[in-house]
Amino acid sequence: MDTVSRPSLLSSGSADQPIALAAARSRRTRQGVVAWGNHRVTVGGDAPVRVQSMTNTDTADAVGTAIQVKELAFAGSELVRITVNNDEAAKAVPYIREQLDRMGVDVPLIGDFHYNGHRLLTDHPACAEALSKYRINPGNVGRGDKGDRQFAQMVEIAARHDKAIRIGVNWGSLDQDLLARLMDENASRVQPWEARQVMYEALITSALDSAKRAEEIGLNGNNIFLSCKVSAVQDLIAVYQALAQRCDYALHLGLTEAGMGTKGAVASAAALSVLLQQGIGDTIRISLTPQPGESRTQEVVIALEILQALGMRAFVPSVTACPGCGRTTSTTFQELAKQIDDYLRNSMPVWRTRYPGVENLKVAVMGCIVNGPGESKHADIGISLPGTGEAPAAPVFIDGQKALTLRGDDIVREFQVIVDNYIEKKFGVTA
Ligand code: SF4
Repeated sequence: MDTVSRPSLLSSGSADQPIALAAARSRRTRQGVVAWGNHRVTVGGDAPVRVQSMTNTDTADAVGTAIQVKELAFAGSELVRITVNNDEAAKAVPYIREQLDRMGVDVPLIGDFHYNGHRLLTDHPACAEALSKYRINPGNVGRGDKGDRQFAQMVEIAARHDKAIRIGVNWGSLDQDLLARLMDENASRVQPWEARQVMYEALITSALDSAKRAEEIGLNGNNIFLSCKVSAVQDLIAVYQALAQRCDYALHLGLTEAGMGTKGAVASAAALSVLLQQGIGDTIRISLTPQPGESRTQEVVIALEILQALGMRAFVPSVTACPGCGRTTSTTFQELAKQIDDYLRNSMPVWRTRYPGVENLKVAVMGCIVNGPGESKHADIGISLPGTGEAPAAPVFIDGQKALTLRGDDIVREFQVIVDNYIEKKFGVTA
């Protein structure tokens, strides 16, 4: 197994100096806009990091795709990508847009094109218009002069319709001519780079050269976003750190093929957290393989959780719960934490407008007296449930002060009522 030596963190730090506060660094990129109708989603610059997702329906199924786009948007996705892979899909795009507009879902749609995007966008102008942004993979637009012409054709259509584009390079479909050229150049170096480093360079060169060409063709550079996706955490960090140093385009971030379940979520969180903390990344997507029966919206939930955990954005009230240990054999706190978490999360689509700011609410549900009162005081509302052998009483803290003590068999329901009342009082908009 590979071992990697880590630099020592020991230094002559002094307790006289305050410990620096941790916060994500800011990296100013150009700001672009992805719009549908009056709905404008700013990307880059001082805009918050945006959440994207992608459907897995057959785009030719306009109704099924519109329903999934709506679900993703309701879950919190601010941009939704759909595949546009053939004439049937391209024909369906305006109907998907129409269905969404009719449902009042104004989330911008991004068309994902490979191989035939130049033709589909040319043959289906209504598709080109209904999309708000086109994803172009420079490795899949064709080779040589033909590839250049087809790339230019897509960019010209984007410029004509005033659409943004993402130049989305992927190591699985890297421009093979470019890679071969860089490999040849590398072979003539006195000290050749590792093959992986040549691959990094090819990813970045492909993105930057394509962006330069798109600007030369006439696209506003603010509306060009870049991505260089790979599937390993350390590769992604290395590539994006270099890419961020070499351009000021807004960057779309994500591991490609992150994987399934816990593995995909953890790998994505690990890679994205490092980069976001360094100020790198203007939009994110979690490319999660859904587990059988799992909702597609799970990739949105994880993206929101990453941004919220880093303190970069707030989407849903947070519930802090202790993990439990031998001091409590009761699972009441787990059940209560789950119930409150589900309740808050499920209520958000309605609460977003009814209770502005409710996403910043913090609730604590703790299992015993050890950390219960302390943690509860740090939350807006906290409850410290009785551990094994403790008196059957659950003090409730509101805004850091002990407000009351719940007793008896109905603690769970009574606490939910307290949370409801608090939300109404603190976040309710008075007429
Ligand atoms: S709060 Fe109590 S029950 Fe929960 S982990 Fe800490 S000691 Fe254990």
